[in-house]
Amino acid sequence: MPVRKYNYYDFTLSLCPTCLKRVDAKIVFEDEKVYMLKRCKDHGNSKVLIADDVEYYKNIRNYNKPSETPYKFNTKVHYGCPYDCGLCTDHEQHSCLTIVEVTDRCNLTCPTCYAGSSPSYGRHRTLDEIKQMLDTIVANEKEPDVVQISGGEPTIHPQFFEILDYAKTLPIRHLMLNTNGIRIAKEKEFAKRLKEYSPDFEIYLQFDSFDDAVLQQLRGASLSEIRKKAIENLNELNLSTTLVVTLQKGLNDSEIGNIIEYALRQRSVRGVTFQPTQIAGRIENFDPETDRMTLTEVRRKILEQTSIFKKDDLIPVPCNPDALVMGYALKIDGEVFPLTRYVNPADLLNNSKNTIVYEQDSTLHGKMIDLFSTGNSVECAEENLKSIMCCLPKIEAPNLGYDNLFRIIIMQFIDAYNFDVRAIKKSCAHIVDKDYKIIPFETMNLFYRDDKKEVVKAIQNEL
Ligand code: SF4
Repeated sequence: MPVRKYNYYDFTLSLCPTCLKRVDAKIVFEDEKVYMLKRCKDHGNSKVLIADDVEYYKNIRNYNKPSETPYKFNTKVHYGCPYDCGLCTDHEQHSCLTIVEVTDRCNLTCPTCYAGSSPSYGRHRTLDEIKQMLDTIVANEKEPDVVQISGGEPTIHPQFFEILDYAKTLPIRHLMLNTNGIRIAKEKEFAKRLKEYSPDFEIYLQFDSFDDAVLQQLRGASLSEIRKKAIENLNELNLSTTLVVTLQKGLNDSEIGNIIEYALRQRSVRGVTFQPTQIAGRIENFDPETDRMTLTEVRRKILEQTSIFKKDDLIPVPCNPDALVMGYALKIDGEVFPLTRYVNPADLLNNSKNTIVYEQDSTLHGKMIDLFSTGNSVECAEENLKSIMCCLPKIEAPNLGYDNLFRIIIMQFIDAYNFDVRAIKKSCAHIVDKDYKIIPFETMNLFYRDDKKEVVKAIQNEL
């Protein structure tokens, strides 16, 4: 009997990367890798690598938990996913993180920018518009977990501090500022003023490479000195910071280990988020055939390039397990203690709050780590070690603060190549758009930006 060269695992709906129409897709295992096979009647067949680790890919399904929904949805189901975003009532996860783009403008013109920003593109949102965007998030979520002020480059908005002042009046648990760090590096007084928004305020700092040649390719500028100066100012203030690394295969993926080790030595840095480039928006110097990077490839490189994290320390995040990997550690007296290996997946999944308890032993030489789970939700009212994302474990550690925490996150945003309708419904990083809808980050960049709206309208008209 003839036998296929692959093992057929699953079936889903994806998109044609050329016309963005829905197409059937098979998920298959071949040569220890996971591929998506799809066919568009107008643009032919395509085969996309979606993971290079079959065991991890299969394990993702074990991390699914009952979906948490927003208190309010904004659109109805009509055309079918992903053409109804808003959030529509068919979405399967609330907004764990919501992004507010306060401006289209930026003080850089990065060759890689999902929002297509530049010094002259679009406009700043008015303060009234921004207030309404923030109010929309609160209406949906009541007490939003994480809200990120973003752009473009939000720090160049003329009413930047008024935006932060207003956001701080709302019941937002954790406010983040997504920035390229130029103002933080160049203006010490500006950085000092940011510190006034702590606790529960964090800088999400673009930090892709130590190498100016790489930064020229990704950002169109030699920013390594700017990055160092920004970190110096943030360290002085001990202002909580996450380093955000946009990854491109063969460009900066060999720096993953060095970036983690550097981050661990910085007083202000609470973790690193790795984001493989999403094929959307302005994307120069990038070949989708060779430069795409999957989530499991990033995880593998973290394991290869650091000795701190082992396989069990980097696990799927249950609210959106296809797209997110997490790893927790404690930084104490220059030592690093990975914690995620102690998390019981069963407790993560049944919505009881998995709590990691850390105590120093009496000799102060050894460290003792214990674990228990409790049915009680732990409030995140203060900046301490407790989790800042809704379904990550809570950490109880008397005498330790948020600055003892170190968190690795891999966040892979689905694009038209690896699009899987099963997974997109669990997307939990969302954007509030100009029409006050809440749209998954991934579909926003594919369909709902100004320059894409005509494409989605044409598809909707055909359905
Ligand atoms: S991605 Fe979510 S919000 Fe968008 S159409 Fe699909 S289910 Fe609805």
